[in-house]
Amino acid sequence: MADDAAIVNLLSRLIEFDTTSCNSNLNLIDFTQSYLQQRGIKSELAFDETRQKANLFATISGPENVPGIVLSGHTDVVPVTDQDWTKAPFNTTIEDNKLYGRGSTDMKGFIAVCLALTEDIQQADLKQPIHFAFSYDEEVGCLGVRTLLEELKHREVIPAACIVGEPTLMQTIRAHKGKISQRCHVHGHACHSSRIDEGLNAVEYAAQIITYLHELSLRIEQDGPFDEEFTPAYTSVHTGPVQGGSVLNIVPEYCTFDFEFRNIPEHDGNKLLQEVKDYAEKSLLPRMKKKNLKAAIRFEELSEIPAFSSATDLPLTQLCLSLSPYDKAGKISFGTEAGLFQNLGMQAIVCGPGNIDQAHKPDEYIEISQLQSCRQFLTQTIHNATQSII
Ligand SMILES: [Zn+2]
Repeated sequence: MADDAAIVNLLSRLIEFDTTSCNSNLNLIDFTQSYLQQRGIKSELAFDETRQKANLFATISGPENVPGIVLSGHTDVVPVTDQDWTKAPFNTTIEDNKLYGRGSTDMKGFIAVCLALTEDIQQADLKQPIHFAFSYDEEVGCLGVRTLLEELKHREVIPAACIVGEPTLMQTIRAHKGKISQRCHVHGHACHSSRIDEGLNAVEYAAQIITYLHELSLRIEQDGPFDEEFTPAYTSVHTGPVQGGSVLNIVPEYCTFDFEFRNIPEHDGNKLLQEVKDYAEKSLLPRMKKKNLKAAIRFEELSEIPAFSSATDLPLTQLCLSLSPYDKAGKISFGTEAGLFQNLGMQAIVCGPGNIDQAHKPDEYIEISQLQSCRQFLTQTIHNATQSII
């Protein structure tokens, strides 16, 4: 039986690997692979093209030809740079039943509980296999897991269900918003600002697209569609960093800005994006070209995370709800890998230890009691897999 000390030990080891998304995660993967190997479990790695990062997939135990349950977590963490930490981010500090360290909540805590339960899973007489799937590059747009899913897709037996252990305070989450992140590049023509008649001001035209996005945002806020279980209850549209121009007396030649849609599942984010592209390309660009034929507008995809929505009557949702202290499955506004697993035809749910409010912050921590709740939840999930099949 996995105990709290084993979980805390494993979590401390995992936190010591600085797996900020810009770094390699291979040291953590090596550690995990040998941990499983010592228990006789083979893991499969799916690398990125640089071979500096890898996903790990392992079948812990259970019959081979039955679709199993995946316990899924990401190994990468967000940067600590420019954050005011009072504790060492890559060393564990325990104070007042809280365990501090980067990734404690998001989401090495869940991975530590999974690993600590390895022997329990091996000893259980499972009717349905249990797998671990640990990915890279989740924090930069759920990029890593796609390589793993591409491989899973071609298997004879695709897993039936996936529990994504992102921090939800162990509440069962059955839906989250999608996210489309884009960068827009606006090309104009530079000249001395005393002769604006010869130039084309890229900043001013970019500003028009930004205004269009803002009006779109206000329209959605007013007219919906709405889903009151989300906060906010509608698709959000937001412009982030804007860059353009060098000095005031030169008409800016180039401007770039990033924007995103976070769409509720019933709202098609790609349709919204198309609307913005149509405005830029069919309405704005012809006006720009009239002034200067070099004018151009280009949209670049930064990332896209599909929205996720799972019916309440699915066996996995029902199981997780029955094991949860909450009487209702919730919905969250942040994106996870759940939608990508669901796109493979699997049932999915988000449920994990820790509070998202502590994620990505300086002095990130997890309450030890959350790790205990997660252990109980997964122990019961394992027990359920000895009784019936999802
Ligand atoms: Zn996360």
